[in-house]
Amino acid sequence: VRTLLAALAVAAPFAVAPPAAVGPPLPAAPADTGDLIVRYAPGADAAQRADARRDAGVQRDESLPLARAEVVEPVAGVPVEEAVRRLEEDPAVQYAEPDVVRRASLTPDDRYFRAQWGLDNTGQAVGGASGTPDADVDAPEAWDRTTGADGVTVAIVDSGIDLDHPDLAPNLWQNPGEAGAAASNGADDDGNGFVDDARGWDFAATPDDATPQDGDGHGTHVSGTAAARGGDGIGVTGVAWRARIVPVRALGDDGSGTASDVLRAYDYARRAGARVVNASLGGSSPSRAERDAIAAAPDVLFVVAAGNDGADNDVLPAYPCNLDLPNVICVAASDRSDGLADFSNRGASTVDLGAPGVAIASTWLGGDWVLLDGTSMATPHVAGAAALLLARRPGATVADLRGALLGSVDQRPGLAGRTVTGGRLNVAAALDAITPPPAAEPAPPRESLPAPAPAPAPGPAPEQPSAPQPPPGPQAAPLGPAPAPAAPPPATTAGIDRAGPTLTVRPARRSLALVLRRGLPVTLGCSERCALRAELVAGARDARRLRLTTRSRSVGVARATRSLARAGRATVTLRLSARARSRLRRTRSVRLTLRVRATDAAGNPSTRTVRVTLRR
Ligand code: CA
Ligand code: CA
Ligand code: CA
Repeated sequence: VRTLLAALAVAAPFAVAPPAAVGPPLPAAPADTGDLIVRYAPGADAAQRADARRDAGVQRDESLPLARAEVVEPVAGVPVEEAVRRLEEDPAVQYAEPDVVRRASLTPDDRYFRAQWGLDNTGQAVGGASGTPDADVDAPEAWDRTTGADGVTVAIVDSGIDLDHPDLAPNLWQNPGEAGAAASNGADDDGNGFVDDARGWDFAATPDDATPQDGDGHGTHVSGTAAARGGDGIGVTGVAWRARIVPVRALGDDGSGTASDVLRAYDYARRAGARVVNASLGGSSPSRAERDAIAAAPDVLFVVAAGNDGADNDVLPAYPCNLDLPNVICVAASDRSDGLADFSNRGASTVDLGAPGVAIASTWLGGDWVLLDGTSMATPHVAGAAALLLARRPGATVADLRGALLGSVDQRPGLAGRTVTGGRLNVAAALDAITPPPAAEPAPPRESLPAPAPAPAPGPAPEQPSAPQPPPGPQAAPLGPAPAPAAPPPATTAGIDRAGPTLTVRPARRSLALVLRRGLPVTLGCSERCALRAELVAGARDARRLRLTTRSRSVGVARATRSLARAGRATVTLRLSARARSRLRRTRSVRLTLRVRATDAAGNPSTRTVRVTLRR
């Protein structure tokens, strides 16, 4: 039995900063949804209204039962305040304002939501530094689609949870077999081997007990990022507003625990019905038992932290991050500007993606909220996202979740070559990617088929939990002295799909004028089931020339995502943003780059880049 991880700072595994209070108290979050209400001036005709929208970088969203008024939404990159300012300067507009109508249901009124830059980055200052607008996971955009159903269960294997925290208590899982009087009758009413386990279990205590109360704070913070109650007017919001949190305490108040307790916690989580396990913990020694325990739960997605050593996990492995299993996703920490956080581990072949992990506001002991840094804080952004995907599509498999989460990232230079995907979590895009295939592809309910081709098998044979097989590959060496540090990365582990799909990209030939009006159709082909993401990008030089940006950087002007349930082709239409349309209408030709990324069910990406020249 090994010690999993010594505390790195005040707050345990993979959190690096001592907790800082979220305060000074923030101004109450402005109650806007990211959309705007615009009321046009009397007499402004349709063309003048359209010009006003175009110049402000907004597009129509919904009509309103109020004369001359409608809801509009900013196109990517235009802050609401800026859109309001531009609209109000236009003589065709009587007034414009942030939309307060949809906010109540879609965007949280939680007091510290403004501090949660990782969810919605407007460039606001948090913890004494400000960031880059839209260097975030697009959470409000995701919540336009769903805020998560009751009942998706996420286990937090950690230091426990502040059971009475007002921002967490409403989302705590309740064991139906140990409810009411059964919770304290000293009997194992549901026969699961745990007496009175009404709301999780504490494996770190000696002896074990039924109260996974957090004495460290780490688990409480992690829980809040994944699933603090959203839209309740207090504190923060989790990525999933109403997921059920199963607190499983496996780390003590010093933030360390044993592999055996962690394994028990994994198993408890699985048996409690968790579809997602967040494990913001790790260590440098491999554990065969840990690997087997995770492999024995192929229907549970394990979202784990990369570690905070500023190291390359491809060279210096960390576990469970480096486990080469299809149900493990390993997360690095990104900063306010989409760079890799300086403390974060990386790994071009071992760390899957980035998520916000610097100055993250979340729940803390004593009903409080604090800011923390760490890959521990990045990880639950992804776990919460997985819960949202399951709320959207309850039948999604682990392979579906993995494909959607990894196939929809926002590519960022700071993460390229340092993570498998080269990108940062985008929850809204992941939700789009998990959307069930359209009716055109009759999606047979998999339950009704006699023997559907199984998703990529996790190993050469079904796992026999009681009879661990000699696992393949060097990383499964028995416990003992540290492995040779420069051991070659495990190549082609048997049974694991490591090849990206074969991808074909064929843009239609269209004039610039037609693309401005109707978009650019692109036919995409994939050699297997995959998640596709296509983006049209203006290079730095053209972007500046066309006033798409004032800085020297490339700018995305259109993007689309699509999932293919099997090998085949699909046509997506890339519609230019309103801002891009208004800028491009003044030019005779433009050269754009079409970037397409396909990610297969095992998370292996393929990319293709095609130059597209559009002329009038
Ligand atoms: Ca029980
Ligand atoms: Ca009982
Ligand atoms: Ca809240």
